Amino acid sequence: MIIVPEKEIAGLLTRADAFDAVEKVFASMSKGSAYNFPVIREAIGYEDALYGFKGGFDKAGMALGLKAGGYWPNNLEKHGHINHQSTVFLFDPDTGMVKAMVGGNLLTALRTAAASSVSIKHLARKDAKVMGMVGAGHQATFQLRAALEQRDFEKVIGWNYHPEMLPNIEKVANEAGVPFEAVPLEGLAEADVVISITSTFAPTIMADHISLGTHIACMGTDTKGKQEVEASLLARATVFTDEVAQSISIGEAQHAVAIGLIEQSDVHELGAVINGTHPGRTSADEITLFDGTGVGLQDLAVASSIVDLAVEKGIATIVDF
Ligand code: NAD
Repeated sequence: MIIVPEKEIAGLLTRADAFDAVEKVFASMSKGSAYNFPVIREAIGYEDALYGFKGGFDKAGMALGLKAGGYWPNNLEKHGHINHQSTVFLFDPDTGMVKAMVGGNLLTALRTAAASSVSIKHLARKDAKVMGMVGAGHQATFQLRAALEQRDFEKVIGWNYHPEMLPNIEKVANEAGVPFEAVPLEGLAEADVVISITSTFAPTIMADHISLGTHIACMGTDTKGKQEVEASLLARATVFTDEVAQSISIGEAQHAVAIGLIEQSDVHELGAVINGTHPGRTSADEITLFDGTGVGLQDLAVASSIVDLAVEKGIATIVDF
């Protein structure tokens, strides 16, 4: 078995590697050659922790396995560890034997940022100049860093529920050589691309905050009950997702579908756009919305790339298991 510890991931996987792995696996899902298993997520009744498994099989990429992990809200304060903890396990599709164990924390941030970036590449207007951020927590910094590579952005504007966190994303914008401006939610009207990555259960982005022609990637809603944008925005937009089943049950589309504003058939796979079986954006005035729920196959695809890189660079620990 190959072991790649958490501390090695930063030196192995580039944003470009994560992007390629995620773009390929979205395409594979849409072709039907990769599928996700039902997600398990449980409150374990100890340490207020949420723990679960996301898994799947990608026949094209020959990646089989799962990511196990979750959220321990007291970790940082009590133990000095980050609150999100996860590990990816890969298995040999030919034999079922365990193949690799890979640290899953940084991997999660990189694969989540890659997903919104893939959506920007395929759905945002080519002339997008203003990047809007809603959210300034751990994931937001990774999201912004990756998004800025997709278009020639001239300015980043940002809003956060906790304004004192905005310097987190201002720093990323400035490192990329792009000026940053804090704006009220109404200021998002100036954005050509918006990423929302917050943990809110009540919508903060209203339909009229988003201008015609904008691409918005909603990345924070990954659980039943969470909601970042007003449901009527989904009725105004063309809606895309990583996986339709997750989008309508635990993603942003859960609310618009529940109140009958859109139907399951109104939610399209981003993979279909990548494969050319859906046209994607068809006009400069169209609002496109990507509901990024986070699928197990993203984790497996990126973990497989990490294992290949670790073996190639002689960093992997190999144990006779
Ligand atoms: P974090 O705790 O570091 O940051 C949370 C963010 O949400 C901050 O910007 C905070 O100000 C904002 N926020 C908190 N309460 C709010 C409220 N009531 N209204 C508006 N904003 C509020 O968390 P993180 O690690 O950056 O994760 C952000 C979200 O992304 C979480 O919901 C997490 O579950 C989700 N996530 C999704 C994926 C995916 O694949 N889609 C992957 C990882 C994390």
